[in-house]
Amino acid sequence: MGHGGGAVVDVRPDVAARRRAVVDLPWTWLRQVHGASVVRVAGPGDNAGATADAAVTAEAGTAIAVLTADCAPVALASAEGVIGVAHAGWRGVVAGVLDATVGEMRSLGATEIEAVIGPCIHAGCYAFGADDLDTVAARLGDGVRATTAAGEPALDVPAAVRAALTSAGVDPTNIADVDVCTACSRHHFSWRARAEQQRQAAVMWR
Ligand SMILES: [Zn+2]
Repeated sequence: MGHGGGAVVDVRPDVAARRRAVVDLPWTWLRQVHGASVVRVAGPGDNAGATADAAVTAEAGTAIAVLTADCAPVALASAEGVIGVAHAGWRGVVAGVLDATVGEMRSLGATEIEAVIGPCIHAGCYAFGADDLDTVAARLGDGVRATTAAGEPALDVPAAVRAALTSAGVDPTNIADVDVCTACSRHHFSWRARAEQQRQAAVMWR
């Protein structure tokens, strides 16, 4: 990886072709680690392959992407033309990835921010350890506590994402949710439900 400039990273030809079919711009994709690092994308393809869980940009000709299975992809945009995308699993949300993403967008000039929560595992399918649930609730409130269809303690990932975005200053009325559970949906990949290796791609571009 380069420092401060556009990183040159080899991508398999079939992967490159699939990306072009979605949007024919250089993708800034990330090596996601369930952390809170956000990269700023200063031009097409900048920071591709960087170790981070979110990307923001205000530059034309850019495409920024995260890959998810059960974690939530969060797409963000502001009227000022600043966009962001974040990979928001419970560890990343607790680490502050959404606060950091909103903060980076603001530093690029975003004022009012709209967000969309993409397909992710929902509480009914997401049995969660009591200790980890306490950790998330301590950070984001008891609204993240839920139960599975079988009555076990569960984490409500969309509620955790909403709580984090709201605490970062995003107006709750500007947060939309596609309301798809990856574990229930036959049209989405789920690691938890089916040990699928494939991932959904959430891509924003301008
Ligand atoms: Zn489900």
